[in-house]
Amino acid sequence: MFSTAARRLTTAGVRSVGARCLSTSAKTASRSMNKNALPFLFAGGLTAFGLTQYNQSQSAQCDTAAGDDSKAVENKFSTYWPRNILILFGPPGAGKGTHGPKIEDLLGIPQLSTGDMLRAAVAAQTEVGKKAQAIMKAGGLVSDDIVVGIIRDRIKEDDCKFGFILDGFPRTLEQTKALDKMLAEEGACVTKVIELQVPDEVLEERICGRWIHKKSGRSYHVKFAPPKSMKTDSNGKPVAESMLDDETGEPLMQRPDDTATALVKRLAGYHGETVPILKHYEPKGVVKTVNANQKMDGVWTEVLASLSRK
Ligand code: ADP
Ligand code: ADP
Repeated sequence: MFSTAARRLTTAGVRSVGARCLSTSAKTASRSMNKNALPFLFAGGLTAFGLTQYNQSQSAQCDTAAGDDSKAVENKFSTYWPRNILILFGPPGAGKGTHGPKIEDLLGIPQLSTGDMLRAAVAAQTEVGKKAQAIMKAGGLVSDDIVVGIIRDRIKEDDCKFGFILDGFPRTLEQTKALDKMLAEEGACVTKVIELQVPDEVLEERICGRWIHKKSGRSYHVKFAPPKSMKTDSNGKPVAESMLDDETGEPLMQRPDDTATALVKRLAGYHGETVPILKHYEPKGVVKTVNANQKMDGVWTEVLASLSRK
């Protein structure tokens, strides 16, 4: 079973990198196994067989709370079912990487970040990585062929069977059409597009203050979400050596494209090529807009509301 990080990364081109992030503790693995098994059991309308299996798998872990848990899970799936194919939509720095992992935990479906996959390919210096490296550093868009190929392979994997969260894909109308076509081939379609709306002028501070834990994709911010270990110098600037991941203690890094200059190009690409995708999905009634220009907790409350089908 994949950990959050591995689920975001694993794809044919970068499998070796994703594999480094495989789940560590048996407890986490078992929790995530139960979570991922649940949509299947509820898909058939809670058949007697499914309920028995579900109760058995739950009782192995938490005997005493079986009744309460069962009710909670039933509520969860009556609220969020059917199969979720979500697009997390928004400019660089909107909060896709911040809220995506929380949706993963809630629904037990993987977040597929083309940015993370491409960065892993660059780090592993695969053929795809070599082609993408310079374009990414300058804030340009990698070719549609490459990213469509990455997503086509990734969504065939077993953990995507009950849905997935797309982060950073599609970014052009060409990619959108390719996505719709590959989903239609298996009788599926995009069920929700969650647009995180933030004015451009807020994004430079977010992007230039972002630090990430490369392996997991966890993101921090010097002002809005500092790691516990952060220390500042006499000018109030963070000391690089003190920027460590809260969970692993490993060093954090800044992305080479998280600069004010590259952001200008990334935002131009977002407004010119990516925003038109909303017009494509609006007539289907699946677009939900969230005000992402507020504190993270407030954003999460709105994201949750947008996920509900009630
Ligand atoms: P994206 O994945 O959309 O590019 P991130 O989730 O990585 O964006 O967020 C960009 C930066 O802004 C990160 O450093 C993150 O900690 C910070 N951030 C995210 N949401 C908020 C918010 N609502 N308010 C302030 N800072 C935020
Ligand atoms: P952000 O949302 O913060 O801009 P991402 O991590 O999604 O950043 O993407 C980083 C870079 O990877 C992009 O600037 C682009 O060069 C490349 N990239 C990611 N996804 C795509 C995509 N769907 N199409 C083309 N290029 C992509």
